[in-house]
Amino acid sequence: ELNGDDMTNRTYELDRAHVFHSWSPQGSLTPMVIESAEGSYVTDDQGQRFLDFSSQLVFTNIGHQHPRVVKAIQDQAAKLCTIAPQHANAARSEAAHLIAGLAPDGLEHVFFTNGGADAVEHAVRMARLHTGRRKVLSRYRSYHGGTQTAVNLTGDPRRWPNDYGADGVVHFFGPFLYRSEFHATTQAEECERALAHLERTIQMEGPSTIAAIILETIPGTAGIMPPPPGYLEGVRELCDRYGIVWIADEVMAGFGRTGTWFALDLYDAKPDLITFAKGVTSGYVPLGGVIVSDAIYATFADRVYPGGLTYSGHPLACAAAVATIETMKDEQIVEQAATLGTEVFGPGLAELQERHACVGEVRGVGAFWALELVADRETREPLAPYGGSSPAMNEVVAACKKNGLLPFVNYNRIHVVPALNIGIDEARSGLAVLDEALSVGDAHVAR
Ligand code: PLP
Repeated sequence: ELNGDDMTNRTYELDRAHVFHSWSPQGSLTPMVIESAEGSYVTDDQGQRFLDFSSQLVFTNIGHQHPRVVKAIQDQAAKLCTIAPQHANAARSEAAHLIAGLAPDGLEHVFFTNGGADAVEHAVRMARLHTGRRKVLSRYRSYHGGTQTAVNLTGDPRRWPNDYGADGVVHFFGPFLYRSEFHATTQAEECERALAHLERTIQMEGPSTIAAIILETIPGTAGIMPPPPGYLEGVRELCDRYGIVWIADEVMAGFGRTGTWFALDLYDAKPDLITFAKGVTSGYVPLGGVIVSDAIYATFADRVYPGGLTYSGHPLACAAAVATIETMKDEQIVEQAATLGTEVFGPGLAELQERHACVGEVRGVGAFWALELVADRETREPLAPYGGSSPAMNEVVAACKKNGLLPFVNYNRIHVVPALNIGIDEARSGLAVLDEALSVGDAHVAR
């Protein structure tokens, strides 16, 4: 019989012997072995507890192991683990009803997938069939997933080794005042110029060739950049003017992350398709999907929709979604995220920016924040290069981990994206660890 330590070694050794990891050089990996997790904490094989400021890959919106959701999954497993998607099942019907109820009026049907990337694949397919056009416009500084169409749409260096010809994808620049491509100095200027650039892109590509524009409502992995007021409203107008479908990718920003059910709720613009995943089940069981406007739904009233997945609307996943959404409502978890933003992270991170020379900018809303770390505040030179890492960033992250904090890190950025129901004191204690770690970053700042 194996004792605890031997089990741990076995987990690690079998991982290194047989597991092929995502987005990583396989030879140099040293994954942490996680034994358990609860609420906002994960515990490793040495018994060390970490405050999870990452929500893993920004998906445990209600924290780890919420008993109500665990129970709902157990109950569903006992009743009906699985059934093929052509049948109706109670869990899927209820999940679709709840999700459509959260979306804007006029988006009433849900196509279920296994995650975010396949939601993007299907949204693009629907847009192409609906319009009879092929091209899709997507912004640089975005992430839409790891499958082929989704990675081609992605405006991030992870696309580069995966791009075998554009597959009808055209990239444009979205608004991002801190690193403005438009030499703008105010949000209003950035908004106006970004919209003018998008319209010129549409005109130069040929409006009659463009099926869709896909945008993360608030780009997440690429840096949590809330669009300036008026930008999404302007995108809606352009889509209407040129007969283009607007796909809002809410895979990361949706399900309460921004202090509203969808990030879209912060703006006054309605998309034609919404993609979601992650927070819909808090990641307890994989689930994603597309919420479809009535007009696009009508395209497939008398015409076969040529696409599907064996596990579309899987009962275990849908039961997890129902329990997650009901728990979020009953425990007012979305409201908690809003409060975290206004009372803890907004003021707390602004203070860190004042105190630390390596913090160039802080952006975000709700429980969705990014710190842009720089080696030089004036030139805004990032503390790690675009698409890469640096010893300085590694040191900052190591200082967080040493003191029991797991942040979400991307290139030169630290994202503060905890569970939406993290306690206020826990959130503050995480900021205190970050404060200390940023001093390590300050040592690398030129001025
Ligand atoms: N879209 C966005 C905005 C995402 O953030 C992600 C994942 O991070 C995806 C799509 C892909 O989702 P998945 O990894 O579930 O396929």
